[in-house]
Amino acid sequence: MTGSIEGVERFDSPGRGRGLRVTRAFKVGELLFSCQAYSYVLSVKERGFYCECCFTRKEGLARCGKCRKACYCNVKCQKADWAMHKLECSAMTAFGENWCPSEMTRLVARILAKKKTQKERSASEKILLIGDMQSHVEDVDNDKREMHEGDVAALHRFYSKHLDLPDHKDLLTLFSQVACNGFTIEDDELSHMGTAVYPDVALINHSCLPSVIVTYNGTSADVRAVRDMKPGDEVLISYIDLLYPTDDRNNRLRESYYFTCDCQECKTRSKDKVKLKVRKRSEPIEPEVIDNMVRYARKIIREFRFLKKTKTPSELLEMCEQSLEEMGAVFDDSNVYMLHMMYQAMGVCLYMEDPVGAIRYGEKVVGSYSKLYPAHSLNVSSMYLKLGRLNMGLERNSVGISALKKAITIMEVTHGKNHFYLKELRKEAKLTKK
Ligand SMILES: [Zn+2]
Ligand SMILES: [Zn+2]
Ligand SMILES: [Zn+2]
Repeated sequence: MTGSIEGVERFDSPGRGRGLRVTRAFKVGELLFSCQAYSYVLSVKERGFYCECCFTRKEGLARCGKCRKACYCNVKCQKADWAMHKLECSAMTAFGENWCPSEMTRLVARILAKKKTQKERSASEKILLIGDMQSHVEDVDNDKREMHEGDVAALHRFYSKHLDLPDHKDLLTLFSQVACNGFTIEDDELSHMGTAVYPDVALINHSCLPSVIVTYNGTSADVRAVRDMKPGDEVLISYIDLLYPTDDRNNRLRESYYFTCDCQECKTRSKDKVKLKVRKRSEPIEPEVIDNMVRYARKIIREFRFLKKTKTPSELLEMCEQSLEEMGAVFDDSNVYMLHMMYQAMGVCLYMEDPVGAIRYGEKVVGSYSKLYPAHSLNVSSMYLKLGRLNMGLERNSVGISALKKAITIMEVTHGKNHFYLKELRKEAKLTKK
């Protein structure tokens, strides 16, 4: 590890390479450790809402006088961020509309800049992070290789003025390392704020029955127990959305992380049956009909993800409703593929500023979410949070407060009682004075 953390140690996990385990007991909700980002970047779409340096969300941030794009709390944050922001500040002005590196490219540029300053500070200092990360370069398929090639080209185009770039092969390795080991920083409603690299958190292996959860406090990551842990227990997080049945989860893990999970849930598939619940009919539904509908559902989910970028909101909503009707002939409303499309429909309603529509879909989802996700899930808390806020916005206070309280109960475990989000939430739920 990059430093020693009381109560947590690195070990060789059988069959998985390195991992982390606890050396003392931890209770549910207890903080195992916090980790500073080695490098991080704010999403372009969040510019103006958050400070680029410390990720504080507030109104009246000050803009960088040169590019008029990056925003900061104050001069102190601006100065602290300059070593990173200067990689982009003049380039953004020079390229104008044509400035379009991916978030991954932006993060890799920052990692390279940071490695350079570290080398300058001490030539003999071993740069732990990058050599330590798994890359899986040999596993990368053609689509991903093409994407990484595009990212390397963008790095040359937008950043070569400020960086001496390593050779092509090393850059491809770096991109695939960051793809496997990077973390998405999300807010309390799980909306994407940025991407970061956390060396210690990257050591944690995956399980579909995780023992810890990662939340964010500004730009640093907090790792908290979501179940009681005893000395020797491995620290395990989930790399993926746990809503889906075993085959879907493992397809996702193989696609993005190049392994198959062998946790207890993957071995027993104990939740698969409820996750794929079929409608009750007087005549039982033929297995073949169910299989076909599962195939249809997976196809629609893929298509929807792809079409999201090109179709209009009303076309997308129609796609959701149509697929729900089709699947609803076979699947129960609590079936995860139904939930997936209802969640998407809610997102479209939110985008269209239709709170009533969003609430209608959200309420259908949230009950099943609480049953299908593990305890203390951010997917569940963020859903209660959205529903609470939407209802409060429509002055449906008692329904709103009740949903916010449910979010608070979960987030006190996942974020810790003193997290900024909880202080804000208690005000929103009128538990404390404004
Ligand atoms: Zn700041
Ligand atoms: Zn600037
Ligand atoms: Zn598993």
